[in-house]
Amino acid sequence: MLKFHNTLTKQKEEFIPINPGKVGMYTCGPTVYSYIHIGNLRAYANADLIRRYLVYRGFEVRMIKNITDVGHLTDDDIAQGDSGEDKMEKAAKKENKTPWEIAQFYENYAKEIEKEMNILPAHFFPRATEHIPQMISIIESLLAKDFAYEKNGNVFFDVTRFPDYGKLSGNTLENLAIGARLEDPHPDKRNQWDFALWLKAPENHIMKWQSPWSVGYPGWHIECSAMSMEYLGASFDIHTGGMDNIFPHHEAEIAQSECANGVKFVNYWLHSQLLLVDGEKMAKSKGNFYRVEDIKENGFTPIDLRFTYLLSHYRSQMNFTWGALAQAQKNRKTIENFISRLNNFAPADTTEQKTISIESYKEQFDAAMDDDLNTPLAITILLALVTEGNTLMDAQKLTNATEVSSFIIKVLTHALGISLSDTKEEIPAHVMELLEKRNTARTQKDFASSDQLRDEIIALGYDINDSSTGTSLSKK
Ligand code: AMP
Ligand code: ZN
Repeated sequence: MLKFHNTLTKQKEEFIPINPGKVGMYTCGPTVYSYIHIGNLRAYANADLIRRYLVYRGFEVRMIKNITDVGHLTDDDIAQGDSGEDKMEKAAKKENKTPWEIAQFYENYAKEIEKEMNILPAHFFPRATEHIPQMISIIESLLAKDFAYEKNGNVFFDVTRFPDYGKLSGNTLENLAIGARLEDPHPDKRNQWDFALWLKAPENHIMKWQSPWSVGYPGWHIECSAMSMEYLGASFDIHTGGMDNIFPHHEAEIAQSECANGVKFVNYWLHSQLLLVDGEKMAKSKGNFYRVEDIKENGFTPIDLRFTYLLSHYRSQMNFTWGALAQAQKNRKTIENFISRLNNFAPADTTEQKTISIESYKEQFDAAMDDDLNTPLAITILLALVTEGNTLMDAQKLTNATEVSSFIIKVLTHALGISLSDTKEEIPAHVMELLEKRNTARTQKDFASSDQLRDEIIALGYDINDSSTGTSLSKK
């Protein structure tokens, strides 16, 4: 039974989509004012993992990921989306470009990097700037129903009108009243926790639109409500994001969407934990972030990074270290070498042959992933298969190498999103033959032949890696 941990209920729940067999899924996409970093990519790789695993389990998934190209303010992590500068405009001024040029550049960059990370493109990447009429219409309906109010051209959502406010984050008005205070709430607000739906643009603001209230721009939160509704309907199955999106962003999305539509907005909220650097959140605003380029410069591939994410459960904090990346690379290479060995394997020994039970490995793998995507366990299971397979190949006993290879390729590439590397040197058949001969010599304790074969292999330009999971080759 497939179960996900739902932030809304704080429990693991069986996943049952609204329409049998079909899943509507929304992910808060990048704010395109800077390069996406490996922290953002943890959240996006996780959304892709959810999608891929659902497809592997036979669901048809419609995935929407927005592009925030307006209205995300520099202070809205702490405030309610109404103070600070627009991040796009700030970057535009700094780089001496228009906000549209900035947005286009960083959007292209984000998509390019996601491709390198083998993250499947969303079915739609709606841009906030192209959905202003939809946002205005939701705001009009909130005003008509008295869930929002206007003052001096600014429109705010009235949190006191939504009794369920706080149901996602636990930040109910009662809890917020104890201790929490905003530094500099907007003067037009009735309650400091009200959040902006529309803000009147200052004179020199570049990205602004006509509205019934002022020439202005939308609040960040309303963008995601408008774009998810447009492409997935008023109620849909899964919404993902990083933990830092829970409050205020997702709490606000729920409030305004449920008040506008009168129906439950999202059934399952899945949030991935943050990636830390030296114990601190990695964030664009802190400047302590690594990009995929840094990963590559240090001799790793984007897929190694993706593999690193899998070694921690998505709801555990993960401290980024180069050691963890090296471990992931080693695991990836072990599995890839295993696949290449399987693909070249023909058993010499005709007695005492053994078949690996793929069914049993599949059952274990599926059970781990069904349990709220337990990827560390799923990888452990795959590595156990590698060990068993290599041992049987060493002893020339494995009968179903092709079947093992197809299984591992399927789960690795389809379900986990770990593509086999392009740069992987196809090890030529004559070299693999030498390796098999060496393995046989070793099993027969004929060390003279085994050493001679090893030297021949090394002379052909390969390293032999003997490990507890078996023997593999890599190009020097
Ligand atoms: P932003 O562009 O800041 O809105 O972030 C885009 C996505 O990346 C959101 O889902 C965030 O929750 C996520 N995110 C930002 N920083 C981190 C981090 N250090 N670790 C993991 N996810 C992050
Ligand atoms: Zn969002």
